[in-house]
Amino acid sequence: MRLSHYFLPILRDDPKEAEIVSHRLMLRAGMIRQSAAGIYSWLPLGLRVLRKIEQIIREEQDRAGAIELLMPTLQSAELWRQSGRYDAYGPEMLRLKDRHDRDLLYGPTNEELITQIFRDATSSYRDLPRILYHIQWKFRDEIRPRFGVMRGREFLMKDAYSFDLTPEAARHSYNKMFVAYLRTFHRMGLKSIPMAAETGPIGGEMSHEFIILAKTGESRVFCHKALLELTPPDENIDYDSDLGPVIAPWTSQYAATEEIHNAAEFAKQVPEEQQIEARGIEVGHIFNFGTKYTKAMNCAIQGPDGSLITPQGGSYGIGVSRLVGAIIEASHDDNGIIWPKAVAPFDIGMINLKSGDAQTDSACEQLYSQLRSAGFEVLYDDTRERAGAKFKTMDLIGLPWQIVIGPRGLKDGAVELRERATGKAEMIPLEGVIARLREPEPGLGKL
Ligand code: ATP
Ligand code: MG
Repeated sequence: MRLSHYFLPILRDDPKEAEIVSHRLMLRAGMIRQSAAGIYSWLPLGLRVLRKIEQIIREEQDRAGAIELLMPTLQSAELWRQSGRYDAYGPEMLRLKDRHDRDLLYGPTNEELITQIFRDATSSYRDLPRILYHIQWKFRDEIRPRFGVMRGREFLMKDAYSFDLTPEAARHSYNKMFVAYLRTFHRMGLKSIPMAAETGPIGGEMSHEFIILAKTGESRVFCHKALLELTPPDENIDYDSDLGPVIAPWTSQYAATEEIHNAAEFAKQVPEEQQIEARGIEVGHIFNFGTKYTKAMNCAIQGPDGSLITPQGGSYGIGVSRLVGAIIEASHDDNGIIWPKAVAPFDIGMINLKSGDAQTDSACEQLYSQLRSAGFEVLYDDTRERAGAKFKTMDLIGLPWQIVIGPRGLKDGAVELRERATGKAEMIPLEGVIARLREPEPGLGKL
């Protein structure tokens, strides 16, 4: 993409409405614009990141055996009356009426709708287990939308729903999502910590929030330091095997959010020097709720012995749009965003130091086209801006690599390659750029 043809409305100054760094940087980097409280437009750069995050989530859901579908944003109130949640949900639910005076709502979540779809299409135990998911906009009329996309009113969520014959099978589906979540967040360059969370009336330990530690997080969390050192299983993990032992390193250490934190237990289980008491951002939440929705909505299927069985259910959410902010909270410096490679809007930012100079232009054009043929996504700053402004913009938008091309280097046939994360710069010959970018990175195993 040539910057001269792109839509990248950069703000040079800090917008005063933004309280936290991710919100500030997303506005400044031209990623989002607010259209109403807690409701945002995604500008081209922001959209590219959102799509990358979405794609990683999709790949890991698919790998775990979940199947994608797409449900609408608008749902009928009738459906929610069947579960009793139409009245129970409260003012967070956006309610509307159509021209025939029928009650509709903008979905804050989809348990009812997916249960209806599953129920009407499934009659035999042979069709279980089943995990279905979609990635769709939600609306919750949050009392205090804030922090940009971190707590919006309209936000993008991945929500998956499992249906199983027995509580043991439901536990397995839960564990699949647990592992898929560990992998998903790790691939985005985040250290997520699964924390035991409130389960409500169902009880048990079948609810975990996946938390990213960050000073600006809204939740207070407590955990064992060892949880920060764990690495998730690689892509060869067999999702049909017993996943209990696989997740045990995460579930056997103390980790709890404020709501269920028990100071005495914490002190007993975790030696003082291993205790972490911090703030965190909830990026995902998995939950097993037994037969709560299947029962309320008369969903029954025929079991192996011919008797009717009410399937066990679970739901599994990821805050897709919240993750964009969470990743920035975890990865930035004074000059701007530092995108982890897997979610960066472009791989490379190429700076032409002397646009209009025939020799520099031609070297840039040539490299630009070679890089793209080699499969790299490049944002090429071909504008007539001053060099200083170009550097500032590139640092702000945080692409992993910067290639700086100017007459001085070109005299020796060289360009400068800079890594945004470390600031390390090296002069390399033009024809060596692609090979250098393809060098495997130390410490990056296959995940
Ligand atoms: P929170 O406690 O942050 O309000 P929640 O527990 O109500 O979230 P869930 O119903 O568990 O949220 O939704 C699944 C995921 O959707 C959350 O883990 C979070 O990442 C994301 N999410 C929830 N509410 C919002 C919001 N207002 N803006 C952006 N993302 C959200
Ligand atoms: Mg939650």
